[in-house]
Amino acid sequence: MSLESKEKLLTIVKKLLNEYPLCDKCLGRQFPQYMRELDNEQRGNMLRKMVKIPLQEECFICHGLMPSLQKLIDDVLNILSEYEYDNFLIGTSLPSDIVEREDIIRSRFKLKGGETLKSELNREIGLGIALKTGKQVKFKGADVTIIVAPFSKPLVTIQSKPIYLFGHYLKKKRGIRQKKVRCKKCKGLGCVECDYLGSAKQESIEDYLNKIILNHFKGSKVKYTWIGGEDSTSLVLGNGRPFFCEVINPKVRRLIGLNFPIDIDNKIILKDLQIIDKPKVIPKFTTDILLYIKFNESVNNEALKNLNSLNNAVIHQISTKKRKVLEKRVYNFRIKSISEDEAQVEMSCDGGLNIKKFVKSSLIKIGGKEVPEVCPNLSSILNINLECVTFDILNVHIQS
Ligand SMILES: [Zn+2]
Ligand SMILES: [Zn+2]
Repeated sequence: MSLESKEKLLTIVKKLLNEYPLCDKCLGRQFPQYMRELDNEQRGNMLRKMVKIPLQEECFICHGLMPSLQKLIDDVLNILSEYEYDNFLIGTSLPSDIVEREDIIRSRFKLKGGETLKSELNREIGLGIALKTGKQVKFKGADVTIIVAPFSKPLVTIQSKPIYLFGHYLKKKRGIRQKKVRCKKCKGLGCVECDYLGSAKQESIEDYLNKIILNHFKGSKVKYTWIGGEDSTSLVLGNGRPFFCEVINPKVRRLIGLNFPIDIDNKIILKDLQIIDKPKVIPKFTTDILLYIKFNESVNNEALKNLNSLNNAVIHQISTKKRKVLEKRVYNFRIKSISEDEAQVEMSCDGGLNIKKFVKSSLIKIGGKEVPEVCPNLSSILNINLECVTFDILNVHIQS
């Protein structure tokens, strides 16, 4: 730098500091072209000494934030210590008046090329965390994103990347529904009625699984995607029903410490839980089922023979939700036991077949005409009134 331009620079620094008190960091940040090998604080300190203007009380731009940055970094580290992560990303949120104050100075004194307060903050906090924890900054898909808002509350917000899991559950007791029911009174927000759980006091698989999954991963919530469903009166046996779930905002990211299978309150068994990539599609599956059927009228033996036609039969199921007719196949249909007024039937079928309506005929109106929702169904084949007392899931097979 020539003597002339150095004189010019110092004149600007002097004028600037006389008008606006700045801390060393905020001063050094405005003159990045001067002594590039120094950091902002060292550069600011050197310039200040050269113009012989002592450090004044409060910095016009940062209002004392930069000199007390280590305290802020310590706060972040403290909150971060509850989280398991391999990498992180820092974001800062600054009130607009702070950003504007730096802009005012830059335009008044025609200062160019300097880093902004925000990017210096991101860099310095990131460096402070990396030095202390040995973890690296990752710009895309970081395990935790740390949002620092030095002038508002909460000071630090941490968002952690969701974890996706795949597992199986078995159900050993009847009377437990799959999904939890939202409390009618508070609609899931939590109130006196529901003990602030947000869900009705009715047992659900979801609640039992949460006892393990939500507790272990210390997330804010778990979203389940079931691969099929059963009735609350059904048992789920064999290898259990597969499911996916997403743990939102987890503090723990590994499965260490959980040993499968886990028996939950002697009612539900959680098996083979594993961490996976975000699932793209729900796979197709078939289910092995044991049906418990009640006859409301006597059935004749000739009619029973007609049931053989169900092997490999295609069943049409009207889906009002999807506004179309779905095709589901039944396999290996066989009567396991039969008496005067009841029977047990074993069968396999494509996932999604409405089992109760496959047993008991249920009519719906389409274009002014009443048609069975599931067709053919056992009642229509036997031409008598049947009821599905319950059905148990013997196994679920995912088709690759
Ligand atoms: Zn400052
Ligand atoms: Zn409630």
